[in-house]
Amino acid sequence: MPVLEIEPIKKVSVVIPVYNEQASLPALIERTAAACKTLSQSYEIILVDDGSSDDSSALLTAAAEKEDLYITAILLNRNYGQHSAIMAGFNHASGDLIITLDADLQNPPEEIPRLVQTAEEGYDVVGTIRSNRQDSFFRKTASRLINAIIQNKTGKQMKDYGCMLRAYRRHIIDAILNCHERSTFIPVLANIFARRTHEIPVQHAERTFGESKYGPMRLINLMYDLLTCLTTTPLRLLSLIGSVIALSGFTLALLLIILRLSFGSIWAVSGVFTLFAILFMFIGAQFVGMGLLGEYIGRIYHDVRARPRYFIHKIITAQPVKNPQGKK
Ligand code: UDP
Ligand code: MG
Repeated sequence: MPVLEIEPIKKVSVVIPVYNEQASLPALIERTAAACKTLSQSYEIILVDDGSSDDSSALLTAAAEKEDLYITAILLNRNYGQHSAIMAGFNHASGDLIITLDADLQNPPEEIPRLVQTAEEGYDVVGTIRSNRQDSFFRKTASRLINAIIQNKTGKQMKDYGCMLRAYRRHIIDAILNCHERSTFIPVLANIFARRTHEIPVQHAERTFGESKYGPMRLINLMYDLLTCLTTTPLRLLSLIGSVIALSGFTLALLLIILRLSFGSIWAVSGVFTLFAILFMFIGAQFVGMGLLGEYIGRIYHDVRARPRYFIHKIITAQPVKNPQGKK
């Protein structure tokens, strides 16, 4: 690979989505600000309140009003989900390197300087591998499967997409912001645009405050976001599976006729159950197919509506604000 000039990083933006995290916020703000202070670059910390119903927005407002912390609080009018909240933060980030982080302190903010250092070596995207991942077996297995699919589709070698402690260079963020789709999975989108990526191992702590915001339904939604963000192959698979089922149905029917002819009518009666089984198989397959089609159609519907991705209620910062809704 030819050596390209590595662009210097002059400013670092840290973007953190916050949804009902009042218990972890004081420690988060303190630890993130302390980690950023050790950087040689200038920095800003952007905290996006994703429509929390607890005291998070009040805590963020108070923190943003202190000038020495370089914090900007963005309050969304309601809950839009983690990735939309991060996108709102991206729209207001002015750094050359943008770092995302979870608010629950599962990813230690102390790793920020290491991410910056690695990015300075010339990487577009720096991911992290959770060396001692503190999640359930189910979630670990699910993400291993997903990672394998993403790797295949983006062509980038990355072991861990689940950890949001990541760094992206300015041009990657600009490219992501220029995508007009509504269902986004940021780490995957970033890797589609990245040229050089790298992963570093980081510590992963258990959630000490509050609960995970991802219940089973939200996880399913996230997986569908990921799937539709990556590929439309399932649509093709659908017709492929459909043809296989139809062919085997046809072969079975032929077999039944032959057996009926050679062994007499007893076969036709006992075959009723076989036919029922085949029928149910067909009905099941049809439903799976319709469900998948529905997923895509639902997303097309969302995109066609082209509603704004988010609507900012208010921005609190000691710095001047231009372009509040992030319109180009
Ligand atoms: N989050 C958000 N909006 C949501 C759900 C989550 O901004 O609707 C934030 C949440 O506050 C946290 C991050 O996204 O900072 C990751 O959420 P969580 O820790 O619940 O996810 P998990 O670690 O269980 O995957
Ligand atoms: Mg978490």
